[in-house]
Amino acid sequence: MRGMQVPAPFEYERATSVEQAIDLLERLGGSARLVAGGHSLLPMMKLRLVNVDYLIDINDLHADLGYVQVEPTRVRIGAMTRHRELLDSPELRRHFPIFHDAERVIADPLVRNRGTIGGSLCQADPSEDLSAVCATLDASCVIRGRGGDRVVTMDQFYRGPYETAVGPAEMLVEVRVPVRPNGSSAFEKVGRRAGDWAVVSCGASVWIEGGLISDARVGLAAVGPNTTGIPEIAAALRGRPPSEEAYTEAGAIAAGACTPVTDQRGSEEYKRHLAAELTRRALRRAVDRAVSGPADGREP
Ligand SMILES: Cc1cc2nc3c(=O)[nH]c(=O)nc-3n(C[C@H](O)[C@H](O)[C@H](O)COP(=O)(O)OP(=O)(O)OC[C@H]3O[C@@H](n4cnc5c(N)ncnc54)[C@H](O)[C@@H]3O)c2cc1C
Repeated sequence: MRGMQVPAPFEYERATSVEQAIDLLERLGGSARLVAGGHSLLPMMKLRLVNVDYLIDINDLHADLGYVQVEPTRVRIGAMTRHRELLDSPELRRHFPIFHDAERVIADPLVRNRGTIGGSLCQADPSEDLSAVCATLDASCVIRGRGGDRVVTMDQFYRGPYETAVGPAEMLVEVRVPVRPNGSSAFEKVGRRAGDWAVVSCGASVWIEGGLISDARVGLAAVGPNTTGIPEIAAALRGRPPSEEAYTEAGAIAAGACTPVTDQRGSEEYKRHLAAELTRRALRRAVDRAVSGPADGREP
């Protein structure tokens, strides 16, 4: 009975600094887990899909790791930044409207109030939307351990479903997104109902110089690993004027590059169709924004 689900017993500690969290992970070993928003981990514990002996609560680290900091060449986002803060950040929306597009359709307000970007990326659920956003933006992840920080690309970060480059005594502390001029971005998602996980979702970013596409990246979620921005799309679009024909061609490349499987959310064929269609729509919207300048609060 769902109402009776209770997790196995576990010990609980609240970390008050990143260093202390890493120390605890190191000392407590394999069955210790960090908990951020808890919206992925706690349901899995209730279902006993994961067994945790020690839960290390990192919510007090929001003071240090909850931020969106804009610098001239990059935007730094702390791992404890909550979905809601990503949704509400005007700076983030101005530089990367894709975040606002995506956050509007991730879960519901309750989940968004607690869930974090760090927890989302570390959960590495194949249907998770922010990984697609980060792949689209060519973001990198800063992982901290006792020995210091290391920085990895999204491709290096995502090792497979529910598996990342974060080691047992390490923490994701920051996501870094490069700021490049003359570009914009957009996100499109199809779910079975509002607030649900994606059947397919798709991010696109484009850069326009002298009226021509100078670069493009596409990130997909729920259709297999997709962390490189699909370089074949950039190769096909570079040097061309934006057009419906170009978006359709990119869509066909995206549909061919992904590896969806038939499940309760839809057939493989339907998901490939969505990958093509959402790529077209996201590129079109990103180009419109790139041409019309930074988002000004309207909903293009
Ligand atoms: C009803 C519902 C609907 C949802 N719908 C969507 C959706 O449409 N799209 C979507 O993308 N997501 C969706 N989610 C997931 C949601 O976005 C979660 O908040 C997110 O996946 C996990 O973030 P969290 O902070 O809650 O992580 P937690 O559950 O606290 O942690 C998840 C995992 O990451 C690890 N972890 C957390 N932070 C760190 C860190 N800084 N360093 C290293 N490891 C860390 C934890 O140990 C754990 O293994 C949904 C969730 C629910 C409950």
